[in-house]
Amino acid sequence: MSGDPELEARGRWVRSLSALREMLPGSFVERRRKCGKPNCRCADGRPEHLHTQFLLSVLSEGKLHTFHIPHELAQQARSQVELHKRFQQVAAAICRINLRRLLCLKQKNQGRKEG
Ligand SMILES: [Zn+2]
Repeated sequence: MSGDPELEARGRWVRSLSALREMLPGSFVERRRKCGKPNCRCADGRPEHLHTQFLLSVLSEGKLHTFHIPHELAQQARSQVELHKRFQQVAAAICRINLRRLLCLKQKNQGRKEG
């Protein structure tokens, strides 16, 4: 036990990261479209007749890669992308704590020099 509430909070954030190990990058996109076959139910263009397509768009080294996700994996992929958002929030919280600690240390060191 450190007794420092900030360090304890940081420890909790860090430990919560292990639950996010299945995270996926990018954005999950659900798209409705016509397939183009003239005899298909989608040909009338009514929203309930359109085909649903699931895509994962990943920006990697400046390039956007789009992956088609089969229906049976769509729900899973969607939650895995959510995990990555959570990861970014947790990382930001850890970084905020570390920044505050660095600035605190800087202030202490300056006080020492001047004092
Ligand atoms: Zn169709």
